[in-house]
Amino acid sequence: MAQVFEGALPHARGRDGAKYGAARERLGARPGAAIAASAAGTGFKPCGFVELAADADRLHEYRRIAAFNRKEGVDVQEISAREVAGLFPLCRTDDVLAGFYVPDDGRVNPVDATAALAKGFRNLGGTLLENTSVADVLASHGRATGVVLEDGSAIQSDYVVNATGMWARQLGERHGICIPNQAAEHYYLVTDAMPEVDPEWPVVEDPASHTYVMTPSARAVEL
Ligand SMILES: Cc1cc2nc3c(=O)[nH]c(=O)nc-3n(C[C@H](O)[C@H](O)[C@H](O)COP(=O)(O)OP(=O)(O)OC[C@H]3O[C@@H](n4cnc5c(N)ncnc54)[C@H](O)[C@@H]3O)c2cc1C
Repeated sequence: MAQVFEGALPHARGRDGAKYGAARERLGARPGAAIAASAAGTGFKPCGFVELAADADRLHEYRRIAAFNRKEGVDVQEISAREVAGLFPLCRTDDVLAGFYVPDDGRVNPVDATAALAKGFRNLGGTLLENTSVADVLASHGRATGVVLEDGSAIQSDYVVNATGMWARQLGERHGICIPNQAAEHYYLVTDAMPEVDPEWPVVEDPASHTYVMTPSARAVEL
């Protein structure tokens, strides 16, 4: 790790599919959430999350996803366009067939969440080496057995997890391992304060228009 606050996480906008996203991607329990839970203060705000289905295919897909999430214990409610407008009055809903509302989802403060992950990891006995890059991965009989740091020292380990985010592909390549991981560029827009926007409104995602909107403090953010 270079530094705790150096990766993408502290710079994120803070949309956190704490339950929905985890179950949706079939990840089961999210280790990061457990680590963060052992420390206080991720800045999590349970403002809720609404995903919009604006065509028949998405409606079909999100109903299946909702069914899977309910099986995993997540409260996902299929709501009407009128109910979407009730939750987020500035949302245009004339083409919305249904919204999928997850009241327990919300947003975090990315810097606080990063600090909580680091603190939680230390609370559980972990050691964080900052300003230290992994230069190489040790391997024996086709299995990773440790890492070599840039100063040449080695750390032996039963397990090695490549969690270097958008740099994971380069690290894997050193051993001829193809990790199909590519950072995708996109834009976000931070508005001035909008008094008509209530910071309690949920995060709204409309994949059909490649957009989501959220309201950290009294501002709207659009991606
Ligand atoms: C502007 C922006 C907004 C975003 N908004 C959101 C959002 O609202 N919601 C959301 O869910 N996601 C969002 N994301 C995406 C999210 O931040 C990332 O998907 C997530 O942080 C990736 O986590 P990670 O731990 O895999 O990687 P990172 O957080 O990037 O951490 C990787 C770490 O590995 C370290 N590293 C790299 N190479 C080495 C090496 N050789 N040796 C040792 N350490 C190394 C890096 O220094 C870094 O600390 C956003 C991203 C950006 C950039």
